[in-house]
Amino acid sequence: MAANPFVVYVRGLPETPSITEVNIRSGPATSYPIVKKVLVGTGNLRVLEVRPDEQQNHFQGKVYQWFKLELPDGQAGWARDDLLEVSGDGSPFGYGVIQVRTFAFVLTRTPPQAIATPPPMEVTVSTPPPPPVPFTPPPVSISADVQPPVVPTPPPAPVATPPPAAPSAAPTAYVNARDGANVRSGPGISFSTVTRINRNTALPILAVQQEAGGPFRWVKVTLPTGGEGWMREDTLRFDASAAPLGLTQADLYPAPMADRWWVRGYDGPDGHWGWDFGARTGEPVLAGPSGGLVIRSAACARCTPDRPSFKHYNIPLSDPTALNDPAWNFGYGHYVIVRYLNEQLPASTRQALVSRGLGGAHLYCMYAHLDSRAVSDGQQVTANAVIGGCGDTGNSEATHLHLEMRASTNPNDTNWAGMKKNLLDPGLLFYR
Ligand SMILES: [Zn+2]
Repeated sequence: MAANPFVVYVRGLPETPSITEVNIRSGPATSYPIVKKVLVGTGNLRVLEVRPDEQQNHFQGKVYQWFKLELPDGQAGWARDDLLEVSGDGSPFGYGVIQVRTFAFVLTRTPPQAIATPPPMEVTVSTPPPPPVPFTPPPVSISADVQPPVVPTPPPAPVATPPPAAPSAAPTAYVNARDGANVRSGPGISFSTVTRINRNTALPILAVQQEAGGPFRWVKVTLPTGGEGWMREDTLRFDASAAPLGLTQADLYPAPMADRWWVRGYDGPDGHWGWDFGARTGEPVLAGPSGGLVIRSAACARCTPDRPSFKHYNIPLSDPTALNDPAWNFGYGHYVIVRYLNEQLPASTRQALVSRGLGGAHLYCMYAHLDSRAVSDGQQVTANAVIGGCGDTGNSEATHLHLEMRASTNPNDTNWAGMKKNLLDPGLLFYR
């Protein structure tokens, strides 16, 4: 199977949409002159070379990597990894194959000559720099290589909020995912990603189609750039204009944290087993909106406030011995597992379980790498109750939440390891 080429998407700073361009430099450090700027949202830029920051500039100990890119005008230039997302076969550059477009800064680069084998346990990546605190000036300290635009041309992607529904309005969808959503070339995740669209962008709807064998419908839309593409319905929201097409809001649970940013998705049993959200330490982690039962609230014996994670013991990230050590909770750090009963799941989630041969199964969700736990074994938690605080414990490089979901037909199952055969993408239950 031929892997997709290694390409870059210019993400900019999702928390600061007013920044619409990023700097391209003539070499791999901010000491090199800016040779041009590229619009945020530009995608499919081929990677020519990757090098660590020549001045060893870093954030929280992680040295920035610079990507030499083939630009839309055919020329080449360098951009820093905290402004980029990557996907495709990055193995020639030390990244391995990245199935889902991922924030480049959080990836750990290994020398290309090293043989990359999937780690046996939960793989945790470091989280990106915290997003800017609201109501503060643009975060120049976080991303020194971004400059606010002076006169952006062409104008930034249109941002719209749903207008009041008009009976005769053309069917319109709005990007609902907080960090934007992927557009694909066909109605399913097996189709290639063609671009990514910012939150709240209004998109005229062209067609709707059920995914073959999947629970979601896919919506064909006209893109702001004029092309066409397909988006999964749960990444969108709809107003009354879309009702004649049968499109109403998907009934997924909200993500478990109010203030978070997207770091990494689910790769399946051979890769990353859940979702990673970046967040601030202590950020409240919330139970689902129907409440649930805490089947396990586990303290990590090795994780102390002073030395919460592998790095404090000079243990490499994803070290196999530590990942097999119960004293580290197998790398999960402090964690909580909550059971959500099948009958309280959203209809689309129950339908998805049926289509996977898991009809009637209950979902068990682990919230890992916590700083603190607010619940204990066997405790019933009410809707949206605080179950803990986000942290950096175990196999973690920075504060983040690892959300992992498994299924069991036994409502009293406590054998988390035994449920691994029913590992699921948290996207079946949660919004991003
Ligand atoms: Zn994770």
